[in-house]
Amino acid sequence: MAVTSSFSRRFFVKPFPFFSFNFSFSTASSAPPPIRVALTDSVGRAVFATRPIAAADLIHTASPAVCHPYSARAACYYCLAALPHSQPLRAPFCSQHCHQRSKGYYDVEMKANWVAFDDYCGTRGLKYPFLVKRLACMVISGDARSDTLDILQPTNFTPEMVSEMEEEFVLLRNAFMETLIGDDHIAFLTKQWYINVLARIRINAFRIELAVGLYEDLLSLAVASVEAEAAVGNAVYILPSFYNHDCGEVVTKK
Ligand SMILES: [Zn+2]
Repeated sequence: MAVTSSFSRRFFVKPFPFFSFNFSFSTASSAPPPIRVALTDSVGRAVFATRPIAAADLIHTASPAVCHPYSARAACYYCLAALPHSQPLRAPFCSQHCHQRSKGYYDVEMKANWVAFDDYCGTRGLKYPFLVKRLACMVISGDARSDTLDILQPTNFTPEMVSEMEEEFVLLRNAFMETLIGDDHIAFLTKQWYINVLARIRINAFRIELAVGLYEDLLSLAVASVEAEAAVGNAVYILPSFYNHDCGEVVTKK
């Protein structure tokens, strides 16, 4: 039996800390999660139940491989939690913990001038290149491998789509090249790498919305947050990407 839910949207409860480079199988109990990943005849890999799972049961928790907030002024750089209104503009973290956990790749990002890249993507409404930028920073800082997302299914880009990505790739690479970061640290950052990563992010990224409250209230909170367009950013998860899901929004719980 494939794992499905009676809800049209999927819920993943984020553990704290939110971010790690390996998905977590942690559950409320010490028992292993009741799932396995296997091939299907028609839709590639999928997650299967190893025992009956009731509606609204927590199957497992997962941390994203990479994430990025829509706005550095509104959401934490590391965990996408809402920032306090009194937060200084130059401190995009909800806590010292989040600052410390992301310090390596945040410092890499701060070494470069992102005006041209951010303007190009921002004016075109492009969100996924920011996830590639984040992953590139993580690779440079040693917090992630360049092949972190390779296990995920990629989308197929047409040659026209690939050529349209030339500009954003050049702007990303130039931003790093104009810093004191050594060439050997950005050797991985080829156009092929950029396209390969973006092809995986494109069909595996989840829109992240924040919800607060009791787990039992998540469905009503999800409905409320969707109506309020409460999305705070995007994230790519490894195991949840194997779920045969409807690409609906993810609600995370702080
Ligand atoms: Zn945070």
